[in-house]
Amino acid sequence: MIESPLLEKLNGYIGGRWTDNVQGNTFDVYNPATGDVIAKVASMSESEVEDAVAAGKSALRLTSPYSIETRRKWLEDIRDALKANREEVGRILCMEHGKPLQEAQGEVDYAAGFFDYCSKHIQALDAHTIPEKPKDCTWTVHYRPVGVTGLITPWNFPIGMIAKKLSAALAAGCPSVIKPASETPLTMIALFTLMDQHTDMPDGMVNLVMGKASVIGKVLCESPDVPMLSFTGSTEVGRKLIQDTADQVKKLALELGGNAPFIVFDDADLDAAADNLIANKFRGGGQTCVCANRIFVHEKVADAFGEKLAERVNKMTVGDGINGDVDLGPLINKAGFDKVKRHLEDALEQGASLVAGKQPGDLGDGLFFPPTVITDVTRDMCCYREETFGPLVPMALFRTEEEVIEAGNDTEFGLASYVFTGDAERAQRVAAGLRFGHCGWNTGTGPTPEAPFGGMKASGIGREGGLEGLFEFVEAQTVPRGF
Ligand code: ADP
Repeated sequence: MIESPLLEKLNGYIGGRWTDNVQGNTFDVYNPATGDVIAKVASMSESEVEDAVAAGKSALRLTSPYSIETRRKWLEDIRDALKANREEVGRILCMEHGKPLQEAQGEVDYAAGFFDYCSKHIQALDAHTIPEKPKDCTWTVHYRPVGVTGLITPWNFPIGMIAKKLSAALAAGCPSVIKPASETPLTMIALFTLMDQHTDMPDGMVNLVMGKASVIGKVLCESPDVPMLSFTGSTEVGRKLIQDTADQVKKLALELGGNAPFIVFDDADLDAAADNLIANKFRGGGQTCVCANRIFVHEKVADAFGEKLAERVNKMTVGDGINGDVDLGPLINKAGFDKVKRHLEDALEQGASLVAGKQPGDLGDGLFFPPTVITDVTRDMCCYREETFGPLVPMALFRTEEEVIEAGNDTEFGLASYVFTGDAERAQRVAAGLRFGHCGWNTGTGPTPEAPFGGMKASGIGREGGLEGLFEFVEAQTVPRGF
């Protein structure tokens, strides 16, 4: 079992206190590197989730809102608590997710960055009066908190994903009911321990519920006291939330699946492209929504690029992330492992060939999937059509710019994309042609707190990060004054 001063309670947190778990229902949390159960966490009932919503409602202040200074202080306190505890929060994150320790601690820094950004830009949410005086009135625009928000997060960034949502919600003055993924609730409990100890937020401002998604999702979707949900996860669940909230016309912020194209033209710096692809593709074990999923390489440089990738991949180490100098940890669970294996098998059966990695039959037991590169991938293969969510690099060849823009867009998703070329005009044309919310030019970097990030098409609605993200949790209210 995991021991940590940040995990003394393994229960929910409602109305400013830890819950008792009187019914005694729990679920197991595993370390994916060892398969061991490391904690038993309270699984909450419908009535507890309702209590969390009621607690949120009691913390919402409309007629005498929390001042900008008060909200800024909450954000700064959370930022500082995360920074001061980055090693321990990162250790917990590493143990329940599996990503290498350094990467896990880097994710805590990334999370602190969102609270920092919102604290520095919160003034943008202040009311302002517009310079014109149409209709003989003075027009003031106020940014009101949407209300109690449901924040639902996935397991792949256990602290990063909540930081994006919670920083903007608190900046807006919105209380929240937070549900982490059942694979990674411990990092969230650690965050709540820090907020409980190091911030002076009113009771009910932040509430933690854990357990069955169907139970928690039902209350959050059906309660008229929750006017907004912010969700990161699969497109399938995102669609369900749209349907289940349609009657109440809830405000939704959705960050859903991706199928990122990574395009390498023949005039690209191939070493830089290979380095960036490795950093992008293997972050989080390949289990991020911005990981390159289809690698389009110009046919003239395909062999050379494949060799560069193989050289790098063959040097990577795979193992338990807690040991420090490991490049790649385990996949999150057996279903995740089996999906990557199925994608590899399917591609090889349909004519792709292995450039680096192991044959499916040699993968062995456990959740450690070696970094793998395949080439001659075509459109009917599973790894091209679906998000693999694992350390498989599928290369497909192309000839022309038009062809690769069309191929890149040949997916219902539109989250992240990347283009590597030395030609600035081409880069501009390709970025404009790709219907993706993020398009890296000569970089494989993903989001940052300072810039908006989100999806087009079936990858979602809304943005997180940047000023756009800050405005997600407010409603503009316009007050024209006649006299
Ligand atoms: P992933 O593939 O990353 O696990 P999911 O969409 O299945 O993505 O889950 C993301 C988050 O959404 C998790 O916290 C999960 O428990 C939660 N979730 C799943 N189904 C529902 C639902 N019907 N209502 C609310 N939350 C849900």
